[in-house]
Amino acid sequence: MHEFTPDVEALARDILHYSLLRMRQEPPLDHAKSPEELLAAAGNTITEAGLGGKEALRVFTEVLAPSCLSTDHPSYLAFIPSAPSEHATLFDLVVGASAIYGGSWVEGAGAVFAENQALRWISDLAKLPASAGGVFVQGGTIGNLSALVAARHTARERAKAEGRKIDRWVVVASNQAHSSIKSAADVMDCEVIFANADADLSLRADAVDVAIKKYIAANPTHEVFALVGTAGSTNLGIIDDLDSLGDYANTNGIWFHVDGAYGLAGLCAPSVRDLFNGIEKCDSLIVDPHKWLFAPYDACALIYRNPALGKAAHTQHASYLDTLEDENEFNPSDYAIHLTRRPRGLPFWYSLAANGSKEYSDAVEDTINTAKIAVRLINEHPNLELLMEPQLSIVAFTRKGWSAEQYQEWSDKLLDDQIAFVTPSAHLGQPILRFAIVNPWTSEKELTEILATL
Ligand SMILES: *Cc1c(COP(=O)(O)O)cnc(C)c1O
Repeated sequence: MHEFTPDVEALARDILHYSLLRMRQEPPLDHAKSPEELLAAAGNTITEAGLGGKEALRVFTEVLAPSCLSTDHPSYLAFIPSAPSEHATLFDLVVGASAIYGGSWVEGAGAVFAENQALRWISDLAKLPASAGGVFVQGGTIGNLSALVAARHTARERAKAEGRKIDRWVVVASNQAHSSIKSAADVMDCEVIFANADADLSLRADAVDVAIKKYIAANPTHEVFALVGTAGSTNLGIIDDLDSLGDYANTNGIWFHVDGAYGLAGLCAPSVRDLFNGIEKCDSLIVDPHKWLFAPYDACALIYRNPALGKAAHTQHASYLDTLEDENEFNPSDYAIHLTRRPRGLPFWYSLAANGSKEYSDAVEDTINTAKIAVRLINEHPNLELLMEPQLSIVAFTRKGWSAEQYQEWSDKLLDDQIAFVTPSAHLGQPILRFAIVNPWTSEKELTEILATL
């Protein structure tokens, strides 16, 4: 099992061949199957004698892979798709082959150095100070949770130092915020106040002030420790008023966290950069390279204005770890809820280093332009109504006269026919359709084909 035999060498060729083929061809969209169908086709794959590499690979390529949607298909526009660059995908193979421990400087210095340069690019785009830094974690959910844990740790220490006893800690976010904020608050046993976004769905400081004053009047022994701004809501791509939220949080001693899992990729796109003004006031931010920065699953960049606060909250202490505690060495494990970690920022780093940041700006701008094409096609379509002008690259619209069931039937048929994967969502209780466009291969051709079925 641990010998590089001629059989393994032959298998390596097959695996590389398959991987390159998968990258080179436009993949089929594919379709989930039921456990019964998969069992009938794959059989029981775990046996005492083993299937052998060739047979297990055949089961994967012929049975299992076609039962996984190709999230990089140009007509996969549901949720937030994925569109890794060729360089990033290829380098993921290298990372997989390299057995690098990405948790500590002692073990992974070269990888950590490269990841930190990639994080620096993001933090410079956000105009954070040179001392800012952080770590790549699995996804936005873990990134948000880790940032909020650091925020509460900071607030707790301060309350302790001031001799104040807080009965319950509270996060404030927009009623448009991602579900992971509520999930993080539940894990932390905190309260969440959802402040009302304005009619344009963007959250502003005055609404936050109203929500906090009302809550604290009813719960005087509770304390707000974090304000979460969303930079690109998942449903509609709307950006909160980061400028007023940042001022409000900084004035009131509240940690300002910006959840830009999808949208903060737009920092590198000159045409929308101004929408993020105020991001420089944040105490922490997240952005997922696996969403709109062309990296494979899974990677979320978590950046702290003052990394020491992240480290104070997250460093694990144990006799077997003490040897790693050198003040002058940067250990990524210290900055989030994890210890062992794959250097999951490396595929993103490699592609950014190889292609240069200009290619990233151009690719993000491309997708923003494709969203504009979608808007035009929807406006020209007799049966469709645009929900609102997109701020980024998510385009939402409705089909006149359709019920929620009709939307779902249409979506199912579209996938059955292998035309596209577009799922219904909802806004203010009404069903909507949305295109989330992050793939530079998505073009007018795909959009026209989908809209023709409406
Ligand atoms: C996708 C998303 C998340 C969650 O990120 P995961 O990587 O899926 O865990 C959080 N916030 C926003 C705004 C998102 O779009």
